[in-house]
Amino acid sequence: MAKIGFIGLGNMGGPMARNLVKAGHALKVFDLSGPAVAGLVETGAEKAATAADAAKGVEFVVTMLPAGEHVRAVYLGDKGLIAAADKGTLFIDSSTIDVPSARDVIAAAEKAGMAMLDAPVSGGVGGAEAGTLTFMVGGSTEAFVRAKPILEKMGKNIFHAGAAGNGQVAKVCNNMILGISMIAVSEAFALGEKLGLDAQTLFDISSTASGQCWSMTSYCPVPGPVPTSPANRDYKPGFTAGMMLKDLRLAQDASRAAKSPTPLGAQAAQLYALMEASGHDGIDFSGVIKLIKGQI
Ligand code: NAD
Repeated sequence: MAKIGFIGLGNMGGPMARNLVKAGHALKVFDLSGPAVAGLVETGAEKAATAADAAKGVEFVVTMLPAGEHVRAVYLGDKGLIAAADKGTLFIDSSTIDVPSARDVIAAAEKAGMAMLDAPVSGGVGGAEAGTLTFMVGGSTEAFVRAKPILEKMGKNIFHAGAAGNGQVAKVCNNMILGISMIAVSEAFALGEKLGLDAQTLFDISSTASGQCWSMTSYCPVPGPVPTSPANRDYKPGFTAGMMLKDLRLAQDASRAAKSPTPLGAQAAQLYALMEASGHDGIDFSGVIKLIKGQI
């Protein structure tokens, strides 16, 4: 049993922390939201007074926060986690954030004699609840080996992606593929329908031909062919268009910084930005097919 501080108990962090409690770990939890903390305390976690308090007297600290600015604010400075934690504490940040913030915060932790990993996830709220997330981890091998048994209580596939920040690199690259491929599949199904091709027939052909990809075979944007896809429940998320836009914007920031062109990533970001501008960023990202069909 390990002593773990957990900060950020939202849609993802809440169920992740619950899985750690279920596995027998002793958790000290903090969130700005009182009800989120109360939900964890009910399961047996201890309530911390502040984020810094959650980092005191523990061996590991896991954070699951919205964006880079929150991670910087929580970790850095006199009242931050790095200043508050005992020497030897291992920090694991599972938030999806920009690569420079991840690398800066890890460097600050290491300068203070602490170990830290960036460990963003994929798998969504369903994966967080089921404990089947995929973790993409950046940082030293030594820290990765120490963190792995903890991550295994929240996820199924735990990958070491290399040096600090590489977890975030893997995450933005993967989600850029996903965002683009969903648009490609949506355009094809919209075109096929206009030309009189039944969606199920296109699915049967394309899912076994060279056009097949996850966006089609596991998350098809039209109702019918994949009964579990959000298209069958009027695009209730799932993974919202707003979250996809956040990740595509992170990919664009990274692309600019690395001078590595991503023309389709840029175009994909613009299409999801249109969903945001028209107030449809709360639906599942596969609802981009509605934009393509001129329905939103
Ligand atoms: P969320 O908004 O539901 O949760 C974030 C939590 O952080 C909130 O409870 C908020 O109160 C808390 N918080 C914010 N600032 C804080 C602070 N200074 N101190 C303490 N608590 C603070 O978001 P989420 O959906 O749980 O996502 C968390 C991260 O995981 C994001 O980076 C997101 O991009 C990533 N992610 C989300 C999904 C998903 O499907 N929801 C999937 C993969 C990755």
